[in-house]
Amino acid sequence: MAAAALLLKPGKERSLLRRHPWVHATAVARIEGEAAPGDLVSVRASDRRFLAWAAYSPGSLLRARCWSFDEAERIDDAWFAARVAAAVARRAPLREASNALRLVYGEADRLPGLVVDQYDDQLVVQVQAAGVDARREPLLDALCRATGCGNVYDRSDSALREREGLTPGGGVLRGRAPPAHLRIVEHGVQFDVDVRRGHKTGFYIDQRDNRRLAAELVRDQLARTGRGPRVLNCFCYTGGFSVAAARAGAARVDSVDSSADALALAHANARLNGLPSAAPGAPDDGAGGLHWTAADVFEHLRTLRDRNARYDLIVLDPPKFATNQHQVERAARAYKDINLGALRLLEPGGRLLSFSCSGAIEVDLFQKIVAGAVFDAGVDTFLRARLGAGADHPTLMTLPEGEYLKGLLLERV
Ligand code: SAH
Repeated sequence: MAAAALLLKPGKERSLLRRHPWVHATAVARIEGEAAPGDLVSVRASDRRFLAWAAYSPGSLLRARCWSFDEAERIDDAWFAARVAAAVARRAPLREASNALRLVYGEADRLPGLVVDQYDDQLVVQVQAAGVDARREPLLDALCRATGCGNVYDRSDSALREREGLTPGGGVLRGRAPPAHLRIVEHGVQFDVDVRRGHKTGFYIDQRDNRRLAAELVRDQLARTGRGPRVLNCFCYTGGFSVAAARAGAARVDSVDSSADALALAHANARLNGLPSAAPGAPDDGAGGLHWTAADVFEHLRTLRDRNARYDLIVLDPPKFATNQHQVERAARAYKDINLGALRLLEPGGRLLSFSCSGAIEVDLFQKIVAGAVFDAGVDTFLRARLGAGADHPTLMTLPEGEYLKGLLLERV
């Protein structure tokens, strides 16, 4: 049976001609033929010209997501298996760095709606679009074949699935139930990951290279001055940057997060690496090692200033402050506030690693916000590097809004 055709309104073909993979409901004039959720449809301009093969999502504002812009391609199970195998193969060089990798990153791997992370022998998937939902079993077959993993757990975001008109997901899809903690090794540092309850699929895989950079900055200062730096890690979650910095030789690492659960696992992760770590909430004896504080970072930065605390390296990796354009202004004030607070604690020669994972805040705007904080802090800083997510989180040039994580490495003069 021929695939149904989604006919666009006049002029609405422009973004697809630039190979942008989304068809908004408002761009659609009508559908010709029958299509169930997730079915293959051809997307056509108002003059019926072929534009793309896509998955139909009648329950979503994104009415279709494109699989291919090539009319000659046959979008069948073998086609999906080849896309999955190619995505997995692209990550092969990263396996040396870590056994926690993002294997499939939706639109960027030209598999819109599918996210797959691997933690050791466990795959964790997020199925966020009707097209992927309808082909779940062949996609899982292909993933298991390409990786040799037989364990698949579903961590689909239920709010996102609801917006797509899908029933809630979640739970074991293949193999065994994941253990309470999965052990990963990233650039030689060990972490336990809770894939059932942790953020995202359990770990911020996207920050892998930036955690290594933090470790390098620690080693660099140790080599130059013979003294391990004092580090402050704000929004530390399960201790990624903290443990990496302590392992590299930091004299002391102070970490802050509002989540007691995250801090408990962070402390366990420090111990796992044989590092001296004070249990969260223990009184501060002023000794070295790792220290964990359950607090609001906005308030805690002011407390640290009142105490005249000083640091050589500060990491700011907050959650997404802006989830859409309407929140940009308020988010900008929040970013400025924490960057100002951090800069006021920074020793001369000290470094600030400052991140934003808000897709709605572009890199130029983020740099302007942080520059505003530098100005208000009355300090001079060099911009040493612009940072982003690891190579397993690629950005398609035709979908620049996929580039959500950006970071700046500043060095105080
Ligand atoms: N850098 C981490 C990931 C940070 S995720 C890593 O490499 O793994 C953001 C964290 O910020 C979450 O753990 C969340 O609990 C915490 N958080 C959110 N709002 C906060 C606030 N106002 N104060 C302190 N922590 C906060």
